[in-house]
Amino acid sequence: MTVVMQRSVTNRGPEQPIGVTCRGLVSIYRLEGYEVVALAGVDLDISPGESVALLGPSGSGKSTLLSVLAGLMRPSAGRVHVGETDMVKATEAELAQLRSSDVGVSLQGAQRSLLPYLTAEQNVAFAQRAAVGRDLLPVRHVLELVGLRDTSRTKLEPKHLAPGERQRLALAVALARRPGLLLADEPTSQLDPDARDEVLDALQAVNGTGTTVIVVTHDPDVGERMGRTVTIRDGRVGAQGRRGEEFAVVGRDGSIHLPHGLLDRMPPGTHLRIIDQPDGSALLVPAVTEKP
Ligand code: ADP
Ligand code: MG
Repeated sequence: MTVVMQRSVTNRGPEQPIGVTCRGLVSIYRLEGYEVVALAGVDLDISPGESVALLGPSGSGKSTLLSVLAGLMRPSAGRVHVGETDMVKATEAELAQLRSSDVGVSLQGAQRSLLPYLTAEQNVAFAQRAAVGRDLLPVRHVLELVGLRDTSRTKLEPKHLAPGERQRLALAVALARRPGLLLADEPTSQLDPDARDEVLDALQAVNGTGTTVIVVTHDPDVGERMGRTVTIRDGRVGAQGRRGEEFAVVGRDGSIHLPHGLLDRMPPGTHLRIIDQPDGSALLVPAVTEKP
């Protein structure tokens, strides 16, 4: 399926695409008797209008990062800006304002974002009710953006939609108030390949209107379809790549996070010889350790 985007004046959001900056972001869940450090110093810059996949194994902190960016959870330490909003200093009212207009969120499990007794169209219309003084798109346009244009389908309740349609409806609900930043947590999990492609088409179409898109996923193929992948591992930013090409990232303490594939060849503890090159670059060569 392809989603055709029309870039007309009426179709462009009144809002600006929103960027994100994290510096030393720490997030801790405090439970009785112990703490879970979900994010352990995340440094991340996402420019307005980018599409980024946050990739990483289960439990690495992806959803926690999304919750902080969505204003659903306060950082424990560090600095986080979502657009102009300082997520550490913002009042509850300012965070509520951010959530109601500038940032759209689709949580993991589409049904969490949907009202079961309303049709697809009514779900989007309901989400628009809270947008006061905003120049909104007609419901039909919002649904078309995510590839839901068959009105015999959009008049159905979520339970009568296919899983992929339901997921795209959840995205439409998140987009209903024309946010400058869309956050989607695992929008393709538990979908068959065709449905997954339709969701990815929808995300690319949304990004095509200028909206910044951040997708949490554990599926490397989803990462391929976004402009950039950022790997989260053990609560930190690991490797970063653009369209398949991977980079190692130097942390603030000088440590290097290698792309996942290299870890097999260079396991923890490997000594890397640093060889300066004439052009100012450096080669990192695993030192051959002699067996005793
Ligand atoms: P991911 O989305 O990458 O699977 P999460 O952000 O959900 O990772 O979780 C990161 C870490 O924080 C995990 O160790 C997880 O067990 C823990 N965690 C997540 N949510 C909570 C919570 N509500 N209370 C306590 N610990 C949590
Ligand atoms: Mg998660």
